[in-house]
Amino acid sequence: MNRKVVAVVLAHAPTETWDCSACGALWPCEPARGELRELHADDPVELAVHMAHCLGRAAGVLAAEDPHHLYQRFISWTQPPALDSDHAAALR
Ligand SMILES: [Zn+2]
Repeated sequence: MNRKVVAVVLAHAPTETWDCSACGALWPCEPARGELRELHADDPVELAVHMAHCLGRAAGVLAAEDPHHLYQRFISWTQPPALDSDHAAALR
């Protein structure tokens, strides 16, 4: 599988506490989501997987948050298409 390395600095990037460095909203804020959608426009599954990795990294810092809210915040807006089993496993 062709794995893209996403090393892009977003204008609306997350801080260590997963707030937005630009607007102070909870990350990913709307502008950040727009940037991420654009970056992954050719591969919405990659976007969902990328956000799942972000959620994995954020989970330690945001351990007190409701997991359902974290899912809504990090994953649900990506609206991933029907996943094959490999991608589904990556999101678990
Ligand atoms: Zn922002």
